[in-house]
Amino acid sequence: MNRTIQSHVLPDAFEQTQCILIVDDEHRMRSSLRQLLDGHDREIMECGTGTSAIAALKAHDIDLVLLDIGLPDISGLEVMEWIKNNKIPTSVIFVSADDRIDAAIRALRNGAVEFVRKPSELEEIQHKVENALYRRRLERSHALMNTRIEHSEQLHRFLVENSPDLIYTLDLSGCFTFINNRVESLLGNSRDEIIGLPYSSIVYTSDLDKARYAFTERRIDKRATANLEVRLKCRHDNGHHFDSNYIIAMLSATGIYETRGGDGTTAKGFSGTYGVARDITERKIAEETISFQAFHDQLTHLPNQRLFSDRLEMAITHAKRSGRVVGVMFIDLDRFKLVNDTYGHAEGDELLKSVAHRLHHCMRAGDTLARKGGDEFTVLLPDLSSVEDTTVIAEKIANVLDVPFLVSGQEFHVTASIGISVFPRDGDTVDVLLKNADIAMYKVKANGKNGAMFFTPDMNSCNHERIRLENDLRQAVNNSELRLYYQPQVSIGSSQIIAMEALVRWQHPVHGLMGPSNFIDMAEEAGLIGPITDWVLAESCRQLAQWHAQGFDKLRIAVNVSPQEFDRCDMVDRIAAHVNAHNLPAESLDIEITENIFLQGATSVINKMRALRDKGIRISIDDFGTCYSSLNYLRLFPINAIKIDQSFVNDLDASHRVFPIVQAIINLAGGFGLNLVAEGVETDFQLKTLHDLGCDEMQGYLFSRPVPAADAEQLLRNAYTDPLPAALFPLG
Ligand code: C2E
Ligand code: MG
Ligand code: MG
Repeated sequence: MNRTIQSHVLPDAFEQTQCILIVDDEHRMRSSLRQLLDGHDREIMECGTGTSAIAALKAHDIDLVLLDIGLPDISGLEVMEWIKNNKIPTSVIFVSADDRIDAAIRALRNGAVEFVRKPSELEEIQHKVENALYRRRLERSHALMNTRIEHSEQLHRFLVENSPDLIYTLDLSGCFTFINNRVESLLGNSRDEIIGLPYSSIVYTSDLDKARYAFTERRIDKRATANLEVRLKCRHDNGHHFDSNYIIAMLSATGIYETRGGDGTTAKGFSGTYGVARDITERKIAEETISFQAFHDQLTHLPNQRLFSDRLEMAITHAKRSGRVVGVMFIDLDRFKLVNDTYGHAEGDELLKSVAHRLHHCMRAGDTLARKGGDEFTVLLPDLSSVEDTTVIAEKIANVLDVPFLVSGQEFHVTASIGISVFPRDGDTVDVLLKNADIAMYKVKANGKNGAMFFTPDMNSCNHERIRLENDLRQAVNNSELRLYYQPQVSIGSSQIIAMEALVRWQHPVHGLMGPSNFIDMAEEAGLIGPITDWVLAESCRQLAQWHAQGFDKLRIAVNVSPQEFDRCDMVDRIAAHVNAHNLPAESLDIEITENIFLQGATSVINKMRALRDKGIRISIDDFGTCYSSLNYLRLFPINAIKIDQSFVNDLDASHRVFPIVQAIINLAGGFGLNLVAEGVETDFQLKTLHDLGCDEMQGYLFSRPVPAADAEQLLRNAYTDPLPAALFPLG
């Protein structure tokens, strides 16, 4: 409805000046009538012909016409007829010398209010005029009232029809007697369809009981129903994401009561209900979303730690009564950080979602899988008959993760470290159970990851140990506790040591000399790898410069760099700075990166590698063949060499005659024009086999274990004078 409401205030008919038109061809007559009728609240006009009377009526708002019948041009009766035909709102008193009754009758029939015969008593005229004017005022007042009522009705109809809410009335039996147009946009029904139907036809079936209470409302005033939430059926899809079509409405309803009987008694009778229903679907969805967000993880939509803790608390309370066992699992995905660091966070998030999805599906109905944050999940097994039940779930988890995931179109194997604690054995509060499951999880990590373990009290000390170690590591560089050991890489063909690989050690004040497997992962996780890499680069370049100065000037140094370092934008400059600081030829530095770097595939990694290569620095892929080997990577990344992982070399034993994998890797390196180094060569058989297969450069205990700089220097001197490998055996 587009009609607008005029809000002007209508004037009161009794306060307006009234206008009288005297129509008579006799001037004397007009004057005496004017004299007779003159008054302060009226205006008097006069004219002598029918045509001028019509003109005056057209131009002015005239309340009363004193109309002579006999006029010189057209007769008064004709003027009267014109008034009638044109529906001019005015009263007419005929004044005529004609005393025939038919003239009077004709005049009155044409709508005249009075008939006055000339000459007549002035008083009579005056009286009739007053009456006519009074009636006229009443008519006007009435018309005004009607207009006002009409406006008011229009206003209310407008308000009702344009209301954003449903407005309705019901009869005694609960059937709709009125409903506003909003029903069409809200429920998709035309109002004609709804009128006459019982309210139950639009109420969502499971809300009918609630609705009955409101719709058959018999209470009024403050006791009337307000703010009752019911769902109303929708015929069409209303755009809200509900499975079935309904809107949520806030319903208000009041009883309608009518005064009974005309005897003035106040007895009232219930005659129906009226009310309003407001669509609050959007608001409800927003509220639900907010409360969902408060208790769920945004990425995976799993319960968050808050909800998990609540549920665990309840499970503990329940188990105290029932005597059952509650299991808590702490799951941490192994090496997940690598995916994030190398593929980027978007891929990492997708993987987390897929993992969450799989884990969720191996839970039972009452179990809770929650995301703790990052790649950590917790599981609540609230009602177990024995502690051993948890291992079944742990196995299930390992099984579902066994199938590889797709990350950036590549298969990716996810494993998890799972720590388990159980109520009542390992604790009786939420915090203690979670902490102990966490400690058990760390133990799994320390034992090589990918597995599950129950918490045991002795782990507590291990955990404290780990934290202490991490703190110690922070000080290790400053306290000069890091050492470099060197392991030679030899060329069988030239019988020379072509490079030394620098391998870091930590001379811990309490634990003694520790290998990198004990602290590199921890350093990466704790963000401490940067200073370690810097120290290793500085020390190895310094050492190499010294060896060059001693005459071993063709020697290269190989330094292991964590893939994490490639996240740092200054890594190329930092590496180059160490080389420049000692005036080393750039090609004497070999950066070893594990294959994990391939995961990244990002242009930034390739660009950094290119920048290193442009400066002349060499790049080798360490532990080649262990995880993500792809021919495509070898083509895309600007690398110099690959190092066959020691696991393949280890497989080379006399019991086999063919070695397809090693052969394939050697061929591959040849095909791509890459240098090849075999790692972990321990036996003569391995040396010979590799050499026969076409691999010239090797590294391994057969030649030498990693040794301190002084011993390495001795190796260099020996190799310089004696042929390989016999020269190296003494230190092996
Ligand atoms: P990697 O770079 O593959 O180094 C070779 C590892 O294999 C060394 O272990 C070495 O001692 C061992 N190895 C060498 N020859 C043989 C052999 O014939 N048989 C056997 N069984 N093992 C052999 P290490 O020194 O414990 O280093 C382990 C890993 O730690 C290294 O593997 C490297 O990835 C990492 N690492 C070492 N130093 C650093 C460093 O300064 N920074 C970073 N980020 N990682 C380092
Ligand atoms: Mg290495
Ligand atoms: Mg290696």
